[in-house]
Amino acid sequence: MTDLMTPEGVDADYYRVGEEIADTKAPAGPIAAKWTSRKFDAALVNPANRRKLSVIIVGTGLAGGAAAATLGEAGYHVKSFCYQDSPRRAHSIAAQGGINAAKNYKEDGDSIYRLFYDTVKGGDYRSRETNVYRLAEVSANIIDQCVAAGVPFAREYGGLLDNRSFGGVQVSRTFYARGQTGQQLLIGVYQALERQVAEGTVEMYTRHEMLELIVEDGRARGIIARDLVTGEIETHLADAVVLGSGGYGNVFFLSTNAMGSNVTAGWRAHRKGAYFANPCYTQIHPTCIPVSGDHQSKLTLMSESLRNDGRIWVPKRREDCEKDPRTIPEQDRDYYLERIYPAFGNLVPRDIASRQAKNMCDEGRGVGPLVGDFRRGVYLDFADAIARLGRPAVEAKYGNLFDMYARITGENPYETPMRIYPAVHYTMGGLWVDYDLSSNIPGLFVTGEANFSDHGANRLGASALMQGLADGYFVLPNTIRDYLAKGPYPKLDADSPAVAEARRSVEERTQRLLAINGERSVDSFHKELGHIMWEYCGMERTETGLMKAIDLIRSLRAEFWRNVRVLGSADTLNQSLEKAGRVADFLELGELMCIDALHRRESCGGHFRAESQTEDGEALRHDDQFLYVAGWEYAGLR
Ligand SMILES: Cc1cc2nc3c(=O)[nH]c(=O)nc-3n(C[C@H](O)[C@H](O)[C@H](O)COP(=O)(O)OP(=O)(O)OC[C@H]3O[C@@H](n4cnc5c(N)ncnc54)[C@H](O)[C@@H]3O)c2cc1C
Repeated sequence: MTDLMTPEGVDADYYRVGEEIADTKAPAGPIAAKWTSRKFDAALVNPANRRKLSVIIVGTGLAGGAAAATLGEAGYHVKSFCYQDSPRRAHSIAAQGGINAAKNYKEDGDSIYRLFYDTVKGGDYRSRETNVYRLAEVSANIIDQCVAAGVPFAREYGGLLDNRSFGGVQVSRTFYARGQTGQQLLIGVYQALERQVAEGTVEMYTRHEMLELIVEDGRARGIIARDLVTGEIETHLADAVVLGSGGYGNVFFLSTNAMGSNVTAGWRAHRKGAYFANPCYTQIHPTCIPVSGDHQSKLTLMSESLRNDGRIWVPKRREDCEKDPRTIPEQDRDYYLERIYPAFGNLVPRDIASRQAKNMCDEGRGVGPLVGDFRRGVYLDFADAIARLGRPAVEAKYGNLFDMYARITGENPYETPMRIYPAVHYTMGGLWVDYDLSSNIPGLFVTGEANFSDHGANRLGASALMQGLADGYFVLPNTIRDYLAKGPYPKLDADSPAVAEARRSVEERTQRLLAINGERSVDSFHKELGHIMWEYCGMERTETGLMKAIDLIRSLRAEFWRNVRVLGSADTLNQSLEKAGRVADFLELGELMCIDALHRRESCGGHFRAESQTEDGEALRHDDQFLYVAGWEYAGLR
């Protein structure tokens, strides 16, 4: 424990410091030998016994879907849940740019160690290194697995898999399928999953939302889910529960995440005792289509792969900001990333690219329409690339992204530079897990974006898909067997106290939401929460701002439970009710994110504390004080 960890002064009002949390599952020995050693030491379950063991998996994205398919194939009885109408609609489908793997196909110096090194460095030394090394190790297997499943990765003329570069690295290791990599990978996972559904090893529950975790005798034993079509509240029991429920960026209201992405599964587990780790680490992605007004409910990502060929600039002089960019001569343009970071140029890590875009706009050199008093945009210019490679080559690589930009903005990016600005994109924080991906509640495992472990304070591009598939195809299936081998766990009756309590809590909450009958819509609360989060817990955070945000969130939460209007009833399809439950959880999570950001009095990765910066305005870490994961335990609300 260090001085800064001990809550003193202002912090003492918000949290208490507990015991240190150990990761007891990572084997001793050199980092490169740990995974081999853990796979060997983890107990086996013989094929005949697997049929007697059941696993609930919440989430059908890359992380949850791959885990369900793999455990089903192994012979366990799996129940798979998603709130969409098809597993194929999990948010992973939105991923555009690519997936990393240390294949070294370009012979440009890549290796497992370099992928490990880049990821730890990119995460600003706040990720768990044992997990990251394993991720780098299995990365090459992922590509082989996906190719075998028929994923149509881009290929070079000779037929070999092509790859490209992403931010924060100097090698080319990102495999891609045009700008639709997530979609193609998810279809691969989906086919494997459907095969198991047909085999009868996986039971699929679409349009079901997990609303509570069942914990009996200290172990996770099931979930309570609502059938979103009929409204029925259902109990599902199993020997273990896996959450692959995705990220919580929608706490900011405006983000690049799918509209349905939420924190409810993770938050319900947190309230039942699971630690929530590093919740304040949020990635603000530098290349999104800028906000155009107050009417929006969604922001659109332009894949980072565009930074391979697009050059980012703003005018040198403020008075040029309103001009047509094509009329601004080279000498009057500031290619600021190439100027400040010549080694990485436009491919600096996301946190740096985002902060510098904000700095340029704060200096008054932003471009695009005025939103409020500011122009919030910088140029991403392909003129050089088109001159060098020709338009057909640029079209082949990025065509769908250019089309998407043109449809949304009405501008032609082949002729005039794109305008981009940072937007909330990915949450590095999540439920705490050990090396086995087990939370601190035995029997509850967490995979993919829903856990905290691999990306530290800033995720490198193309690493989320890698993590999701690593967790789902390779890591969890090996580690969960060590837990399942001690099962089957004692049979749990549907009317046992733990189940009854969980059901009651869901039913009471539902009734409470419907009974308020207030005057404000759910969305209006969500939007206000998003404004608070963006203003005070967004790209730049300060002590006073965070304390103000906590107060504002507490009052907003109180008003929500007094004055929200949830239309419809419980026993039917009711999207207003679904949203209300999710926003209620965001209103609790938002406060924890601010508390986490308040206690971490350093800047690292996506967490920029204005009080902790170098003379040049770069993030200033305090490794002596903060080289740890903050795992938060729920202790009630104020
Ligand atoms: C626009 C965009 C582009 C991206 N591009 C890239 C990229 O190029 N490369 C890269 O590496 N990463 C990219 N990412 C990040 C990456 O897509 C995600 O981090 C990753 O796909 C998350 O996968 P997941 O399996 O953890 O969760 P998800 O794919 O989000 O799946 C979550 C699943 O959980 C289910 N679920 C959630 N809550 C509940 C509940 N309470 N009850 C029942 N079911 C529930 C959902 O139905 C869904 O099936 C991008 C992200 C965005 C937003």
